[in-house]
Parts: sequence; structure tokens; C-alpha cells
Amino acid sequence: MPETTSAASPLPVANLLTDLYIGGKGVPAADGGRFDVVDPATGSVITAVADGTVQDAIAAVDAAEQAAAGWAATAPRQRAEILRRAFELMTAQADDLARLITLENGKALADARGEVAYAAEFFRWYSEEAVRAAGELVTAPSGTNKILVLQQPVGICVLVTPWNFPAAMATRKIGPALAAGCTMVLKPASDTPLTALAMARILADAGVPSGVVNVLPARRSGAVVSAMLHDPRVRKLSFTGSTEVGRILLREAADQVVNCSMELGGNAPFLVFADADLDAAVDGAMVAKMRNAGEACTAANRFYVEASIADEFSNRLAERMKALRLGPGLDETNQVGPLVNGDTASKVEELVRGAVDAGAKAVVGGRRPEREGFYYEPTVLLDVTPDAPILQEEIFGPVAPIVTFEDEDEAIRLANATEYGLVSYVFTGDLARGLRVSEALDSGMVGLNRGLVSDPAAPFGGTKQSGVGREGGHHGMLDYLEAKYIAVQW
Ligand code: NAD
Repeated sequence: MPETTSAASPLPVANLLTDLYIGGKGVPAADGGRFDVVDPATGSVITAVADGTVQDAIAAVDAAEQAAAGWAATAPRQRAEILRRAFELMTAQADDLARLITLENGKALADARGEVAYAAEFFRWYSEEAVRAAGELVTAPSGTNKILVLQQPVGICVLVTPWNFPAAMATRKIGPALAAGCTMVLKPASDTPLTALAMARILADAGVPSGVVNVLPARRSGAVVSAMLHDPRVRKLSFTGSTEVGRILLREAADQVVNCSMELGGNAPFLVFADADLDAAVDGAMVAKMRNAGEACTAANRFYVEASIADEFSNRLAERMKALRLGPGLDETNQVGPLVNGDTASKVEELVRGAVDAGAKAVVGGRRPEREGFYYEPTVLLDVTPDAPILQEEIFGPVAPIVTFEDEDEAIRLANATEYGLVSYVFTGDLARGLRVSEALDSGMVGLNRGLVSDPAAPFGGTKQSGVGREGGHHGMLDYLEAKYIAVQW
């Protein structure tokens, strides 16, 4: 019998699968292993989940292979309707799913609700794209023949996702892969496997045939993912996670020349010019910094503020940060939940300590509160030295380091001085300056007078070491399709 939680369990989603999901069934791990999923608000165990092995990974690829031809041949309209049903089922269960995300990830319930709505939109958007995988037909320049280009599914996909958006990072891959006609194995982060397993149930209820989507929680992620990338049947890796792990997987993927889409780390600069609407800039800063308590690849990591308005901006931001209520995410009165685990909280603590030791001043926060769970106080740091590690590394916590600049050239130079290039934010009242600076910033995305860029209809992704490829929008589906060119003479 597959392991599920009972309807009477404290989990917000009834009958949640806690086994591996392979070939449309819940199955235990080959060696019977399980691992604990922990509530970051208390540090206590929520439940245990099957711990996939290399043998299970190959069984999941077997299931994906068996389903591949049938799914690729399924009419695009039918694939579209299944995706649309998945959107509707997710929306109908939004509240339960949000509670599940908060339970295993820690984020405040309002953030979890926002994530479910965002995640479900990928199913709706790709239900609309599924019937629009257009090819091309042109006459060759020589005039002798036609150039016909078909878009075909890339093949079996391995999808690897992080813990910070356990629903949205999965649907942002599953949606376009299903629309394109691919079958897949999803390896969710081991901190947050329950949301991925809830997704598997929703997709099955929506009508996705057995074996098309397989979900493989596994603590031995290196071995399990490597085994799949060395299986010649696997043709695609889509990874979201840290740049460090991304580099390892690009090397692994090289052995079989597996097609790769990589959504990696960020180090987003947030520029505020003196001519900006300061109310809008502070609102934007709160969204860009505090969505998910700062645990977002798009989180504003470095604030560069024009010197003449730096005091006013910092005071206003500090006031807003100070007013935030910290506590368990399931309590609706709390706006900031715990960080996902003790290591993440310790890393934030270490980065702030390093900045303060080098001369920065914490005007708000700057410490880990003494309470159970993995919390860090919303923090604003002033006088941060330009070489402080907190400006070079992803903070992944509720900390806003502020640095001043004198002119536009300096702002652009500081913003671009990083190996990352995911997103930048610019606040200015001068649209010409806004567009000029946006063009000069070396990042895949820019929020211009806006603290939020994520949109299922837009191409999300980075330049430099923030990644390869785009997710979302029309571009997101191209990552799961391969062009076949036929030279035709008629
Ligand atoms: P991570 O790189 O530690 O893990 C991501 C996934 O890879 C997890 O499923 C993990 O189990 C797996 N993994 C870890 N080591 C592996 C290995 N050796 N081989 C195969 N798989 C392995 O990242 P995380 O801590 O889960 O997530 C935070 C990171 O994700 C941050 O760097 C953040 O910026 C990034 N992120 C990027 C985006 C984006 O769209 N660019 C979105 C969200 C998160």
C-alpha cells in the first residue's frame, strides 16, 4: 500500500501522498528509506517521506519512457484542457495548498497564498500555449525548395527544484513541459517535498496519464540526479537552484550532451535615484526585499541610493521593516515567517556579523531572536563597506544593506559589479533615464519603478552566472521543444 497521511492528520491537505510517485502510483523507496520533513517554525517533524534511490530514479525514467510516445501524440487541445483543469483544481484548493507550503517552508501565509496563485497561473498560461507550438515554412533563398521547421517535444525531462517556491518552481517547469508533449521526473528539494507530492495528485486528478509526471523526493540528490543525467533516454535538464549546484549539474549534463535550462542564483541591485517617487520606491523595496522573507532569487540584495536622498529613504525603509510582525507563518497576523532551516538562518547571521564587524550599522534588527524556530529579524544596514561579503553573496534573508552613490555612471558600475545577472530594480521619475539605465544593466530582467517582475506570461531568467534559458511566457515553452528542419522540394 502506498503511504499517505490519513484524513485525520494535522496536514492541511487530506490523503497527501508521502511515497514516491512513479508510473501513476505511490511506491516506497527501493530500500525502504524515508526522511523527515521539518516545520521551520518549531523545528519539529511534520511527517516522513520516501527517500528515492538511484534504482527508483531509473524506475521513474522507465515510467516516463513508457508514457512518452502516447503523451507526445496526445492532441494539443487535449493537453491544453488537462492543464486548464490542473489550474482550476489548484485554484479550488488554494487555501489548503498555501497552508501546506507554509507548514514545510515557513513563509507567511499571505506569501504562500501569493505563491499558489502564481504557480497555478503557469498551468493556465501553458494551457493557452499548448495549441500554439507554431513551426515555419519559407522558400529557401535559392528558390529551389522550401524550408519547413517543425517543433517537436525535446524528450524525457529531469526537473530539479529548490525549496523557496516549492509550488511555483515546479509548475513553471511542469506546465511548459506538458504543453510541449514531454514526460518528466521531478526531483523536489528535500526541505519541501510535500508540496510537490500534492502537485502530483492534482495533475493526476486533472487527467495527466500515468507516467507522464513522476515525482521523486530524495535526500541523495547528487547520486539520483546524476544517474538520470547519465541515462541516455533523458534529453533535458531544467534546474532551479544555486549557481554552485548549477555548475556541478552542467558538468554532469555534458557527458550525454543533455539540453540544459538553468535558473540560478541572483544578487539583485536596487537603484533609487533622487528624482524617484520615494513612496513608490519604499513600497517597491518592501516587495523586492521582503516577499518570502527575502528567500527569493529575485530578492533585492544590495540597495544603491543616490546620496542626497539616502537618509530619507533609509529612515522610511527602516520604519516599515520595524513594523513587520515576525512569527509562525500559519498565524495570519504574522507578516514574516521563519527561514527554511537552521543553516539558512546561520548564514544570514554570519553575513550581518561580517558587515557590522567591518563598520556597518544595523538601524533595525541585526539579530536572531531568542525563540524556537529559524527566525531572523527584518534588518536594515547602513554604511556597508563596498567589499563586504553581504554585497557579493545571496543573503536569502530579510536584510537590506544600503550603499550610497553619486551619479548614474557610478550606480550602473556598482550594480553590474557581480558575477550574477538575474534581475535589477530601478526607481526614477525620469522615464528616459529609467530606460537608459535598464538597457545598461547586465541582468536578464529589470523592474522599472516596480519591485516585482515575476509573471507567468513573461520570460524569466538571468545573464552571466544566473543561468541559461528562460522560463515563462512564450519563450518558456521553446525550452521544451526542439526544431526539426525538413528541406522539401515539391
Ligand atoms: P540548491 O542548489 O541547494 O538546491 C536546488 C535543488 O538541487 C534541490 O532540489 C537540491 O536537492 C538539489 N541538489 C542539491 N545538490 C545537488 C547535487 N549535487 N546534484 C543534484 N541536485 C542537487 O538550492 P536551494 O537552496 O534549494 O535554493 C536556493 C537557491 O535557488 C538560491 O541560490 C536561489 O537564488 C536559487 N533560485 C533561483 C531561481 C531562479 O529562477 N533563478 C528561483 C528560485 C531559487
